[in-house]
Amino acid sequence: MAVYGKLFVISAPSGAGKTTLIREVLKQFKSLSYSISSTTRPPRKNETDGRDYFFITAHEFEEKIRQGAWLEWARVHDHYYGTSRSVVEQTLEQGRSLLLDIDVQGAAQVIKSDLSPVTLFILPPSVEELERRLKGRGTDESAVIEKRLKNAVAEMAQKDTYQYQVVNDDLETAVNEILSIFKKELA
Ligand code: 5GP
Repeated sequence: MAVYGKLFVISAPSGAGKTTLIREVLKQFKSLSYSISSTTRPPRKNETDGRDYFFITAHEFEEKIRQGAWLEWARVHDHYYGTSRSVVEQTLEQGRSLLLDIDVQGAAQVIKSDLSPVTLFILPPSVEELERRLKGRGTDESAVIEKRLKNAVAEMAQKDTYQYQVVNDDLETAVNEILSIFKKELA
């Protein structure tokens, strides 16, 4: 009988500290792969094509929508983001577990699929703290931050559609909490 890997879905409003938590999880669980999404958003200063995202054009993205190549896709903050269906299926068929870092719209599509994902939502301690973190990051202009903040509040309203909710208040506590979830689910 084929042994399939497990699919994990993590969502969080930007600024909830998701990237740091995901990095810790990937460091700890070597059997877990990270799914590199495609996006039409321009790369940020510190981002590399093929490592952080596959940066593609809207034309290429829309072509793949027509081909049914996305397991899920969404428009977030005016750009397309999507997860390759074939990469996910191949990884799971090889018996490897895979982590998707996607927004709530994408997560809803994966939850509806027959892939039975384990779902986690990461929350900031409060909306005020989220605003402080987004401004402190210094990677985006204030209009972009406002948009992200509004989107964050809407995303947080969906937290109960996820199996696990982790509040990232104290980083060490959140890391321990998330590691124990993966330990249990990968056992
Ligand atoms: P950022 O532009 O800050 O890297 O990501 C913005 C949002 O897009 C985040 O909430 C992130 O989880 C989400 N995102 C990244 N990749 C994907 C994807 O493949 N599909 C969906 N639906 N959302 C994604």
